Amino acid sequence: MNRILIVEDEVRIIAPVERGLRSHGFITAVAKDGREAISLARDADFDLLILDIGLPNVDGWVVLRELRERGEQMPIVILSARDDIRDKVAGLEGGANDYMTKPFSFQELLARIRLRLRETRVSQTKEEKILKAGNISLNLHTHQVYVGDRLVELAAREFSLLETLMQQPGRVISRDRLLKEVWGYDYDPGSNIVDVYIGYLRKKLGNYSIETVRGVGYCLPS
Ligand code: CA
Repeated sequence: MNRILIVEDEVRIIAPVERGLRSHGFITAVAKDGREAISLARDADFDLLILDIGLPNVDGWVVLRELRERGEQMPIVILSARDDIRDKVAGLEGGANDYMTKPFSFQELLARIRLRLRETRVSQTKEEKILKAGNISLNLHTHQVYVGDRLVELAAREFSLLETLMQQPGRVISRDRLLKEVWGYDYDPGSNIVDVYIGYLRKKLGNYSIETVRGVGYCLPS
């Protein structure tokens, strides 16, 4: 089931949109201001955002910019009373996938949401660019790693070690496999290089980011 975050401060719009989406099988959540939208989008996995521009605290432009800068790739459909062509262009160039103006018809909004979700599914099967585990996200394209909203700098070997662990969050990966995939060793050279690099990653990502499974290997909690 698809999860949609409705970012909107007007109750008279929130209520019918929520009701309509739920009756079509979507799971919905609501953020009534920009700050809340940014933190909800970070902490929970949404498949799509409906984004108003005029919002309390920080406006929709800031929400859009922060999410895209962080590498969030869920489709964002702007739903705004601003019908100036310059706003539409700014929205689409700023990384929104669609721009609808108020007043709007729910049927049209629903059709556009379905279309954007379908496009995402197609492009995700072509190329999975972002790996996620817990609050860590790793962008295979830009090589950026975030813990929550904190950007973490990793050396090349650290990145590829983390990438290998993140391919299968929740699964224990053996030292032998890590040696082979990250360092290209077919045998254990008798060093503790894997453990040393796990230590580097923990320092950068947080002590509890990677679990040790004694005698077996390491695991990234999903
Ligand atoms: Ca508004």
